[in-house]
Amino acid sequence: ICSSCRPLQAVMQVDMKTPLLASSAPHVSEPLPRCPGGPVIGIIGSGDFSRSLSIRLVASGFRVVVGSRDPSRVPRGLFPDGVELRSQGEAVDGAERVVFAAVYPEHYHTLVGLRERLAGKVLVDVSNTARLNGVERSNAEKLAELFPQSSVVKAFNVVSAWALQGGARDGSRQVPICSDCSDSKAEVLQLSRRLGFSPVDVGGLCASREVEEAPLLLFPSWGGPVLVTFLLFLFFYGYSFIRRVLLPFIDKGENNFNRLPLVMVNEALPAVALVTLALVYLPGLAAAVLQLGRGTKYERFPGWLDGWLCRRKQLGLLSFVCAGLHVLYSLCLALRRAASYTLLNAAYRQVKAGVENSWVEQQVWRSDLYLSCGILGFGVLALLAVTSLPSVGNALNWREFTFVQSGLGYAALTLSVMHTLFFGWDFAFLPEAYPYFLPPMFLLALVLPCVVLVGRLVLALPCLTSRLTKIRRGWESARHRRPENLDPPGHCGDV
Ligand code: NAP
Repeated sequence: ICSSCRPLQAVMQVDMKTPLLASSAPHVSEPLPRCPGGPVIGIIGSGDFSRSLSIRLVASGFRVVVGSRDPSRVPRGLFPDGVELRSQGEAVDGAERVVFAAVYPEHYHTLVGLRERLAGKVLVDVSNTARLNGVERSNAEKLAELFPQSSVVKAFNVVSAWALQGGARDGSRQVPICSDCSDSKAEVLQLSRRLGFSPVDVGGLCASREVEEAPLLLFPSWGGPVLVTFLLFLFFYGYSFIRRVLLPFIDKGENNFNRLPLVMVNEALPAVALVTLALVYLPGLAAAVLQLGRGTKYERFPGWLDGWLCRRKQLGLLSFVCAGLHVLYSLCLALRRAASYTLLNAAYRQVKAGVENSWVEQQVWRSDLYLSCGILGFGVLALLAVTSLPSVGNALNWREFTFVQSGLGYAALTLSVMHTLFFGWDFAFLPEAYPYFLPPMFLLALVLPCVVLVGRLVLALPCLTSRLTKIRRGWESARHRRPENLDPPGHCGDV
């Protein structure tokens, strides 16, 4: 509502009580009265979506006329005051320009009788597809074929009827909008903004195929990272089970099965967190090595590397979750019955042996160092997780974001590696650390992170850094350059 108009509340109080259309005027041919106030929006269909949309439209200062096949069958009070319920044709005639098709796409063909009346109007398709990758043409494209004289716009399909009702200004949700008619699209973008949504122009109507599939996708970017994390967990847990439980049981009849629910989970979780964190930084190194080897950044990375680079945020967050669970499990270790029995037994043995002081200075340092590195590493990881939230990340400029994600990320990886090394201490050099020739799990978990850290150090060598920086600023080695772009003689281009 522009500044010259009355405030929204006054408009709603006065105008919403004024019927848009005379409710007792059943003649289809009777012209619909034009009332002062917001523009009149038409909605075909009187179902859930239509009802929620009309509530939101009315609350945002629009007038609404709903078109039903049989208005007399629609229960009284289903729609809010200010919404006129009419026949489909009357609703189309009553709408100033925008008409929503809130019926299922299977029923679009029943609307062809309205073709002439819809000519020149903006027809908004809100439908979703029923299955993924199953259609050649989207519902919106089919609707555009049925109504060639109307401008079809795809919008609002990602918003549920429930979300539409959730308060007039409650929407921070993005609404992708596409159409082949830019004026009509601009009109629906504007309308969407007034309803409190964040419209995103996703282009022409052909984009509607993706837009229609969007509500059916199930965490599309999380599948791979979750699977990798789960497989890593299975590997470490299984390895620990074989090494610490199964083989000692078969070999010596030792009963270590009580370790299964807590101790072994708490051994596998930090290993998974560490390896997953290394997997966040490994593709960046691989990309740098490829660019250095190719001498250009203008050759595409292989698909697997592209996909991996795009999933770094998810891998980082999963690493954070595993590390967080490890913290919780570790805090609960002392609450175990087994812990108190072990402590009592140790104390009893010590008393029996006449040992008065069991203080071992080296072990004190070891435990303090590994706890301190772990806490610091987890703190930095938490900071990384917070900055990966769009609302926080968007507040950072590019340099700040790179510093946090790369600089602090490597700091978190280094601290986590140190935490693991201090935890292992000299244990890796003792023969009893290799029962059945199987190395301790922390050694396995350290392999990939150490490779990443060493790789990062190598890439930090000035000769490599400077060449990589040049490549990333568009420089290409001689074998990639066109003759006209070759360096003049004497210029040290290709290192
Ligand atoms: P609905 O509750 O079943 O309502 C559909 C309406 O279409 C009915 O009330 C009916 O209105 C009309 N209709 C039914 N059969 C018809 C036929 N044979 N010919 C013509 N019209 C017929 O469905 P809805 O949930 O509102 O969904 C409507 C559209 O919105 C769908 O395309 C859906 O994909 C989309 N959508 C829905 C949601 C949601 O949360 N519900 C979210 C996003 C998108 P009359 O009897 O008054 O004619």
